[in-house]
Amino acid sequence: MMENNSQTVIHAVHYKTGQNVEVKFDGNIISEVNPAPKLQKEVPFIAPGLIDLQINGYVGIDFNTLPIKPEEIRKVTKELWKQGVTTYFPTIITNSPEKMREALKSIREASQKFAEVEEAIGGIHLEGPFISPEDGPRGAHRQEYVRSPDWDLFCTFKEAAGGKIKMITLSPEWENASEFIKKCTNDGILVSIGHTAASPEKIQEAVKAGARMSTHLGNGAHPMLPRHPNYIWEQLANDDLASSIIADGFHLPDSVLKVILQLKGNKTILVSDSVSLTGMLPGEYSLHIGGKVVLTPEGRLHMAESPGLLAGSVQTQLWGINHLLKRGLCHLNSAIDLAALNPSLLLHLPVAHISQGNPADFILFYQKKTKDIELFKTFKNGKVVYENKEVSKHVSSYYDELLGSSDSTFKTSS
Ligand SMILES: [Zn+2]
Repeated sequence: MMENNSQTVIHAVHYKTGQNVEVKFDGNIISEVNPAPKLQKEVPFIAPGLIDLQINGYVGIDFNTLPIKPEEIRKVTKELWKQGVTTYFPTIITNSPEKMREALKSIREASQKFAEVEEAIGGIHLEGPFISPEDGPRGAHRQEYVRSPDWDLFCTFKEAAGGKIKMITLSPEWENASEFIKKCTNDGILVSIGHTAASPEKIQEAVKAGARMSTHLGNGAHPMLPRHPNYIWEQLANDDLASSIIADGFHLPDSVLKVILQLKGNKTILVSDSVSLTGMLPGEYSLHIGGKVVLTPEGRLHMAESPGLLAGSVQTQLWGINHLLKRGLCHLNSAIDLAALNPSLLLHLPVAHISQGNPADFILFYQKKTKDIELFKTFKNGKVVYENKEVSKHVSSYYDELLGSSDSTFKTSS
């Protein structure tokens, strides 16, 4: 199968082991990974392409504001390469059934029209409309369209999406939730608990029925809760539930991130939950859902009228990884795994690991003295889809030091 003459070879430092490696690939699959001698400075790290299970929009394009043109979805796909994201899940949130179907259909059509969209979309994440109607847990989802789980309605969503719905966020507080969760699970759709006001008993029932994740745990919740029991403790303590987190530095304090990371380990999943203003300049904007908002120079998006209220996340996976690294909440290898290996295992995607037989979707990057990383190149299916031409000049001076040190960066957690 292998054609040696068409092979591409990359020398890099493996993000998990800290060892120099030589990665070979033909076309879109990694054919060999061999140890390489400890060599030159300015060799970048290599890691799998990043995966984002929750993206509402990017660079001014909103997956939930209709109409959405296929070209716009292609633009999001290509812009995400600049952030190292090679697989993502467009997220369609609570709206009227007609509008949800139209949004789902637009994503399906973009995939049919553009190969790069088809190759980048790991699935669609349906967040709603079967969530909690209560203020707080409901978040910014529109109350008028929230409803109890309805399998027939869900089937119309599945059809509009052409079978691309691979995960759903719902609240198990509804009477018929367990039955609905079982049907999704039998269909191979990951059920995630989120935007919920469910009792601990209802959460346990949901897990028995097949729910396997919590969506952005700690957000989409009441501002005040009974100290215990409550739905946050219950989900934290349940070993069968993975947990997604928004680590933009604004949605969760470091202490909460630390607790979730330590409890959930390799079942922790980083998501951006980015809204359409991600990638835009600071300023005041008007959003289709949420009205007037302010994007600050620090990267926080809040309601114009109430600066205390966040209006969504405007950061990407790379920012989240860097937040965790700079705050010392994760080592490099596990920070990357949160946005690559962990979601790939949970969603049964091609395993995001730099090893033989795996997709040649990967990133090359450098790590700075401040621990955060700077992206150098993104490969999708063995092709360079992004290159940062400034990068090596910018960080090469740090590299001697990193290679010279007997490095605390690579403590393995497992
Ligand atoms: Zn949400």
